[in-house]
Amino acid sequence: MKIGCPKEIKPQEFRVGMTPDAVREAVGHGHAVVMETKAGMGAGFTDEDYIAAGATILGTAEELFAQADMIVKVKEPQAVERKRLREGQVLFTYLHLAPDPEQTRDLLDSGVTAIAYETVTDDRGGLPLLAPMSEVAGRLAPQVGAWTLQKANGGRGVLLGGVPGVLPAKVLVIGGGVVGTHAAKVAAGMGADVTVIDRSVNRLRYLDDVFGREFKNAYASAGNTIALAREADLIIGAVLIPGAAAPKLISRAQLKELKPGAALVDVAIDQGGCFETSRATTHQDPIYEVDGIMHYCVANMPGAVARTSTQALGNATMPFMLALADKGWKRACAEDKHLLNGLNVHAGKLTYEAVGVALNLPT
Ligand code: NAD
Repeated sequence: MKIGCPKEIKPQEFRVGMTPDAVREAVGHGHAVVMETKAGMGAGFTDEDYIAAGATILGTAEELFAQADMIVKVKEPQAVERKRLREGQVLFTYLHLAPDPEQTRDLLDSGVTAIAYETVTDDRGGLPLLAPMSEVAGRLAPQVGAWTLQKANGGRGVLLGGVPGVLPAKVLVIGGGVVGTHAAKVAAGMGADVTVIDRSVNRLRYLDDVFGREFKNAYASAGNTIALAREADLIIGAVLIPGAAAPKLISRAQLKELKPGAALVDVAIDQGGCFETSRATTHQDPIYEVDGIMHYCVANMPGAVARTSTQALGNATMPFMLALADKGWKRACAEDKHLLNGLNVHAGKLTYEAVGVALNLPT
């Protein structure tokens, strides 16, 4: 099979669908890989790295889409890319079709077979191609939170880990899933005094078993949430209710109860945010202040560390990419129900029920 990996064209997207490592594996399996020139530049991979791994470099995305049997990307195809897709071609990337009728229409019209990273599942009920980005965002959250707390950025001027003779900062993590767990680990590793709260007692049991005294946990009742928030220097929002907008857990009125200059890092902003005063920001202009409280609400946090994110995503997609290339999408999906769950569009038909329900289209 000929696999093609174009340069991402969505603004501020620096990741790339295939690392040189992924190319090496695909070539080792007997496939040809074509990369668009400079596709890996944002993630620090040069054309020479890809050539050394066995890829052929193409000058334009147009040629690449015309030649490839399967396109491997990161972001949903943009309008100009969608025009290049065709029947019989496989597209493997993040799609997020439910809120995007225009993209869905174009994919259906193109006849392409589209497999969405975000709906591929695993045996433990998780989403293995979303998890790496949650891990990245979670580990990044204390880092950006620590920066936001610095005086020059409007924060309280508190060092997360304290110093000998000075107590460490208090960090509250709301939601102890993938993002929250990784955020708590890193904040605790930086020496902060960390508490994780969650609505799932089973999840709290798991955190207690695995992390012991590394960080504390408590049930996320409304009372606990505001009581712990009042004491916190940094609050990290990491909740998710699958398929729903994030619940608002700290209201604007409650901001005046927080410590002046406290920092809110709302990782759940891509689901609308879990603080009433959250609004999406960008890496160029990541923070703003409301009632003396600093907010960091970047919706695509993994983009800040595009190289790490590309490698983490590449590791997770690699076995699926290889199965699709080795067996063809039909056999690969027939033999792996989790990959089949990723199938969203095939030959003009919507094949993922939740997207059909969201867009009022037949599946
Ligand atoms: P997850 O499903 O692993 O964890 C979510 C946790 O929130 C669960 O443990 C759940 O029990 C808990 N929860 C739900 N409602 C709660 C409430 N009211 N109070 C406390 N806890 C509650 O999800 P995840 O992968 O950790 O993702 C968390 C959020 O981060 C999602 O909204 C996701 O889209 C977002 N995210 C954002 C970025 C970004 O760049 N901003 C990157 C990755 C993930």
